[in-house]
Amino acid sequence: MTSHSEPKAKNPMVKITADGKVIEAPKGGNLLKALLDNGVSVPHYCYHPGLSVAGCCRMCFVEVEGQPRPLISCNATVTENMVVKTQTETVKNIQKWNLAFHLINHPLDCPICDQAGECGLQNYYMQFGKYESRMEEEKVKKRKVIPIGDHVMLDTERCILCSRCVRFFDEVPKTSEMAIFNRGDRSEIGTYEDKALNNNYTLNSVDICPVGALTSRDFRFKRRVWFLKDIPSICPGCSTGCNVTISQDPIEKRTYRMRPRFNEEVNGYWMCDYGRMRYKHTHRESRISTPLIKKAATLIPTEWDETKHELFTIFKTPASQISVLITPQYTSEDITHIYDFFTKTIGTQNIFHCADSHLASDSTVTDELLFRRDKNPNSQGLLKISAHYKLQEQNLSLFQQKLKSDPWTILFIFGPHDLEAYPEFLSWFKENNSLKTKIYIGTQVKHQIPLFDLLLPTLTFIETEGTFVNFKGLSQKLSRGVKLIPEAKPICEILC
Ligand code: SF4
Ligand code: SF4
Repeated sequence: MTSHSEPKAKNPMVKITADGKVIEAPKGGNLLKALLDNGVSVPHYCYHPGLSVAGCCRMCFVEVEGQPRPLISCNATVTENMVVKTQTETVKNIQKWNLAFHLINHPLDCPICDQAGECGLQNYYMQFGKYESRMEEEKVKKRKVIPIGDHVMLDTERCILCSRCVRFFDEVPKTSEMAIFNRGDRSEIGTYEDKALNNNYTLNSVDICPVGALTSRDFRFKRRVWFLKDIPSICPGCSTGCNVTISQDPIEKRTYRMRPRFNEEVNGYWMCDYGRMRYKHTHRESRISTPLIKKAATLIPTEWDETKHELFTIFKTPASQISVLITPQYTSEDITHIYDFFTKTIGTQNIFHCADSHLASDSTVTDELLFRRDKNPNSQGLLKISAHYKLQEQNLSLFQQKLKSDPWTILFIFGPHDLEAYPEFLSWFKENNSLKTKIYIGTQVKHQIPLFDLLLPTLTFIETEGTFVNFKGLSQKLSRGVKLIPEAKPICEILC
């Protein structure tokens, strides 16, 4: 997941001067990146640290002592003792009038554009533009609101032809669907023969598009970005564990999007489209919103106090009759609490896990980029903890065998938050066996069929602090976002 334009980590650090301040940067590295990494603000559209250099937006001009004329910093390399100036009158003039060229044919969409609030044109116009328009000619009209694939909407009129999206599809998924067609002011971004974007990484193009030309069909017009709060977290979609930023509206208590967060070691700058949608199951309408208890073959809402009373009675059952099944979609902290509670407080060893030890450490990606076959975020964590309790051999197939023969009467199920990983999940419990009481602790409303006797709502990965361990054993922290279901409780409060 390294980028093409990033300086090699091994390059020696040298001193350079930027606007009178001495900073350190890797010798031979990209000058623009060095400036940005050191907090020197330089406007740019086409440069992206995860892509090759195009040098086409002409915004990142700086002056370098000893150079006869200003140069674009994205295409310059760091040399020892170089002296860079980013705030001279010449530089400011170049940026101001270059921005005017970018805006010549740009539509006046700002009030209705979904990029408002995070648009490179709006932001730089306020910083570097503020000129009186001298355009008398009619703007060139181009195509608008074109769905290009399941996830992306294209507005060619808003495009500033920075070519980031073209380079992304050429260089990262290597699917090369996009290109700039025609010449001059007729130049237009698009897909070859208007074909749909057809790979698992299309929404990264929306992230890197500096304007509102590429927008997410899932997110557009749902919420203005200034209402959203960003939370650093980990994608729960597979064992890769891509680092993400989750955007929630804390007042409305709703999650709106998930975007990649840079981590060189795990996902670089990117994440997959499948992973992006893994926040949907946290929505209120998908969740068990209150404890449910089965009475006369129907599940009815109940109070936590009544469930506590039920659990108290259940825990009086001899420990040998109590069994537990855990899916690897809980944090390591929650899983530890479950093992601890059932082995020590209840005294049962009948604890089984659904982690597949072969899949859990499988390093092969299904699409040569990021996505792995294990659609659980914490199989490694679950296996490690089960091994600590010497129960790692008690896996799903053993559970399914024993379910038919062992005289358990009680089963606690810590079910999947995301059923994509276990499409057959409900069918495991349909067959009759000796179980009298099945207690489901989880989040998904689809389980509200009278298959279980007690359903207790817990928290999703977005509402929990803790750790997921990815396929290569890397522990990564989740941060707690806003609680989306008031009645849901953390595992440690349910089992106490
Ligand atoms: S669509 Fe966006 S990313 Fe692609 S060239 Fe246009 S402005 Fe750049
Ligand atoms: S590759 Fe896996 S962890 Fe990364 S975004 Fe996709 S589903 Fe999520």
